[in-house]
Amino acid sequence: MKIAVVGAGAMGSLFGGYLSQKNDVYLVDIWAEHVQAINENGLKIEEQDGQIRIFHPKATTDAKTVGVVELAVVFVKSIQTIEAMEENISLIGPDTMVLSLQNGHGNDADIRKFVDKKNIILGTTAHGCTMKEPGFVYHAGVGQNHIGPVSSDRNAAEIVAAVLNECDLITDVSDDVMKLVWNKLFVNVGINAITALIDRTNACIADSPCANAVSKALVYEAVATANAGGANFDAAAVFANVVEVARKTGLNRSSMLQDVSKKRKTEIDKINGAIVKEAEAHGVDVPANRLIVNLIHAKE
Ligand code: NAD
Repeated sequence: MKIAVVGAGAMGSLFGGYLSQKNDVYLVDIWAEHVQAINENGLKIEEQDGQIRIFHPKATTDAKTVGVVELAVVFVKSIQTIEAMEENISLIGPDTMVLSLQNGHGNDADIRKFVDKKNIILGTTAHGCTMKEPGFVYHAGVGQNHIGPVSSDRNAAEIVAAVLNECDLITDVSDDVMKLVWNKLFVNVGINAITALIDRTNACIADSPCANAVSKALVYEAVATANAGGANFDAAAVFANVVEVARKTGLNRSSMLQDVSKKRKTEIDKINGAIVKEAEAHGVDVPANRLIVNLIHAKE
């Protein structure tokens, strides 16, 4: 299959590298040094056991040289989706399937501005990856992907799951992908901004009563917002899962903590900020989320 990865940073490189084992893969990224390193030396992926694997996808800063693809995998940060879709629209034809495994809320709405609903596939991934240097990433966490259609048509999701599974990216197709996306969002809502503000790894949400209390306030507001929009989540169960994830990933530095440390713009507007926006639409008051969005923007 002809595949483009739009935004081939840490996660895009991982997926693009793996997919290149059996597909014609193009990594499209604005980071020229990274693109050049991949084309000259291959894409290096260090696995958790220390093994370094080298893959050979093609890389480019100019999507127009690629032409239309059958599948585009969007892996820019979620705050960059609209801009990246605009800049790389030449990859998208009427039948191009578009997959987003990005974090945050609203990626489907952003992609829908450019792509027919039946061709959009959303999902979550439990893989984790960090950039080591241009052309070189560390595969920090191995896990499963869950994907599903945005419309009622499962066809595109089934095709994409088969392509991912064939390349060792274990993936299943869910009938309720929005529930998966919300559950991942609750985890990010309850962990990321707090760890970024107090400069601690994820364990603080489980271990510090103060961090835990703030997380609980954020998550309960997020659940009230989702339920006001027609979902039916149990806040206590959702929060228990957030704490469990924080405990299990206790040594991890959340992506927002990494962004703040590197003085990069964060995804706050698509995480707690998305809750604020959604809550406004449903008349739900979310003061804790409003506060933390402002604190992260102040930090940025
Ligand atoms: P990243 O910053 O490493 O990669 C994003 C890439 O997009 C960068 O290389 C950047 O140059 C590129 N980019 C920006 N604008 C572009 C444009 N207009 N056209 C083409 N490329 C462009 O980010 P990441 O860590 O790979 O995260 C990507 C998404 O995956 C985020 O939503 C993140 O929350 C999610 N995610 C990350 C992890 C992880 O472990 N890193 C895990 C799960 C989910």
